[in-house]
Amino acid sequence: MLVADVIQVLETIAPPALQESYDNAGLLTGHREQVVRGILVCLDSTEAVIKEAAARGCNMVVAHHPIIFGGLKRITGNTYAERAVEAAIREGIAIYAIHTNLDNVLHRGVNQRIGERLGLQHMNILSPKREQLFKIETFVPHAQAEAVRNAMFAAGAGNIGHYDACSFNLNGLGTFRPGADSNPFAGSKGHIHQEMETYIQMIAPKHRQDSVLRALKAAHPYEEVAYQMVPLMNEWQESGSGLIGQLREAMAPEAFLKHVQTVMELPGIRVATGSRQQIQKVALCGGAGSFLTRKALHAGADAYITADVKYHEFFDAEDQMWLLDIGHFESERFTINLIVEVISEKFPKFAVLLPETNTNPVKYYPNPWI
Ligand SMILES: [Zn+2]
Repeated sequence: MLVADVIQVLETIAPPALQESYDNAGLLTGHREQVVRGILVCLDSTEAVIKEAAARGCNMVVAHHPIIFGGLKRITGNTYAERAVEAAIREGIAIYAIHTNLDNVLHRGVNQRIGERLGLQHMNILSPKREQLFKIETFVPHAQAEAVRNAMFAAGAGNIGHYDACSFNLNGLGTFRPGADSNPFAGSKGHIHQEMETYIQMIAPKHRQDSVLRALKAAHPYEEVAYQMVPLMNEWQESGSGLIGQLREAMAPEAFLKHVQTVMELPGIRVATGSRQQIQKVALCGGAGSFLTRKALHAGADAYITADVKYHEFFDAEDQMWLLDIGHFESERFTINLIVEVISEKFPKFAVLLPETNTNPVKYYPNPWI
């Protein structure tokens, strides 16, 4: 198994095209052709984690946070990031980061995992991304229309929410005149030909553009395939920031806080109390998510769970919605179990390890050594 094989599995769940513009997810050290002996999965690929990986026979580290984030101008051991990268290169360890691309997917993403622990139902993206979709249209002889449609569906087109195989079809008359150098599927050179065709239209995410187009051309019988691709402004429900869902039954605020503390295994919660007496609609965003507080409020959330909330940002809940800061590490700590599951499903006999090193730099007195 190669590093490239592991990357392919991870990118099926979280396509790199879905990462935010400021992010640096992807392969950070090592080579795609490297043979993998063992994988350690972590939130932060610090020097201590790299050393642990080497000691446990792993030469690949899959981390949630990219250790190279804002760029490194020199590697002289002066900062924790420089030392981690130096150690990885010295030990021959490939570091792969799966960051905001994993935050931004609805299915099997960071936030869905938190929502599942909380027992949320009917989960949807809180702030869906725009301009991630395109529309593709083509014109196919009737007899081949179904085969072309199915090839495009298989390549990732035609998914809308909980529905797949979505397309619109219209029958009409197509015309063309094959030129001297053509090799026409129908008609003859120099004569205008009329063909009953099906106009097929469907949408697809931009990151599947190449595969959808390849599938269309491979399945289409014509020498020259007529098609149009149009970028769309639409929101895409499958991808974006945060998540909103419903508890099966409403809870009183104190019971809710206790529930969050228990299922997320928290030493404490920083909380802005709200006026809502019953909590059922819950929004959340793993990691630094205060930029979504007002979005959660306007979406009617009774509570919003996130991390890294600054003092003034707590006021954004307007004393209405309960705002819970559960800690950055704590909000994302179960992400590594998700990554292990994804890799192990595909490579069940392979060693995929969780770290013994606790990389959370934030501890809580009176037990800061735990
Ligand atoms: Zn994070």
